[in-house]
Amino acid sequence: MTEIDSLIEPLVAFRRDIHANPELGFHEHRTAARIAEQLRELGLEVHEGIGRTGVVGVLRHGTSMRSIGLRADMDALPIHEQTNLPYASKTPGSFHGCGHDGHVAMLLGAAQHLARTRNFNGTINFFFQPAEEGLGGAREMVKEGLFERFPCDRVFGLHNWPDLPAGTIATRAGPIMGAADKFEIALTGRGSHAAIPQDSPDAILAAAALVQQLNTIIARRIAPTASAVLSVTQIHGGHTHNVIPERVTIAGTVRTFDPAVQDRIEASLRQIADGVARANELTATVDYTRYYPATINDAEAAQEALDAAATVGTAQVAPEPAFTSEDFAFMLQACKGAYIWLGQAKPEGSVPLHNPHYDFNDEVLGHGIGLHVALAERHLARG
Ligand SMILES: [Zn+2]
Ligand SMILES: [Zn+2]
Repeated sequence: MTEIDSLIEPLVAFRRDIHANPELGFHEHRTAARIAEQLRELGLEVHEGIGRTGVVGVLRHGTSMRSIGLRADMDALPIHEQTNLPYASKTPGSFHGCGHDGHVAMLLGAAQHLARTRNFNGTINFFFQPAEEGLGGAREMVKEGLFERFPCDRVFGLHNWPDLPAGTIATRAGPIMGAADKFEIALTGRGSHAAIPQDSPDAILAAAALVQQLNTIIARRIAPTASAVLSVTQIHGGHTHNVIPERVTIAGTVRTFDPAVQDRIEASLRQIADGVARANELTATVDYTRYYPATINDAEAAQEALDAAATVGTAQVAPEPAFTSEDFAFMLQACKGAYIWLGQAKPEGSVPLHNPHYDFNDEVLGHGIGLHVALAERHLARG
């Protein structure tokens, strides 16, 4: 039995305790306190309340000025769990449906191993970030001077990946996760009787045209070689059969990897919304928010990650990025590093992330710990 294997059993219990007690973004008080307590027991320097509920543990050894950051996210999703597991969520409407409970356990396991063995020379910063799921916890930590207070030559983040088999670890140079934007367009006219259409610019009819037009942006205004998604996901308007509503709203999301493509889509969306509104005697107001940038891996860091992964499992260059997004992007804007996918599918198949039946696969705890440890020990090699 290796040193890491001996850590697994208590970590499975720890992971399941976090799973049973999930906390939503910026409310990870219990989770953060449990992490801080464990890091203190290991003798690390512990900083709490960074990015509201974030925790940083610092482990120094030797004299080298080299340093590395390893990151796990702590928050749960606002989903009602339907797994019927013995350790299922005790909080209705809150659920570790993205496996961040597993990420916390793996990073703690790495801290335990590295604090005991100290086979490195330099500084390891363990970043436990809040609110990855849409609220930008990493952005908050970076804004509060994360990398000024805890300088890192490199920062790495792992995410369990149900599309890859357990034992496979993948990453790539360049974009790995998409930029996520959201938009809401309000078309406003003058509500009136449905039997007197000549008195009422029709926001319903314009909304129908607008949805069609928005769906031409990717096909007609973006190069076929570029990658982008635009999805209209909501239409709200009207409340009864005989009134033409004053206002209809349309909302959706845009995903891209290239800021120039992102700019082109936003400009086109604004132009089309305005044009359709004018043509229908309406006004359009567009609320367009770029909430997560694309996650872009540094090429050298991605290669370091693949080299470390090969010592733990099957390392694979991911052939293409994913269109889902990740706020680790903010850390990569501030520090060179890479985001890495840790395969977690069982031979019988896997449940996707954010599905109410999802659960983190405890069998990959050892891979995740081993990968964190390999990244740290290789970057901070003695001598
Ligand atoms: Zn998620
Ligand atoms: Zn996640």
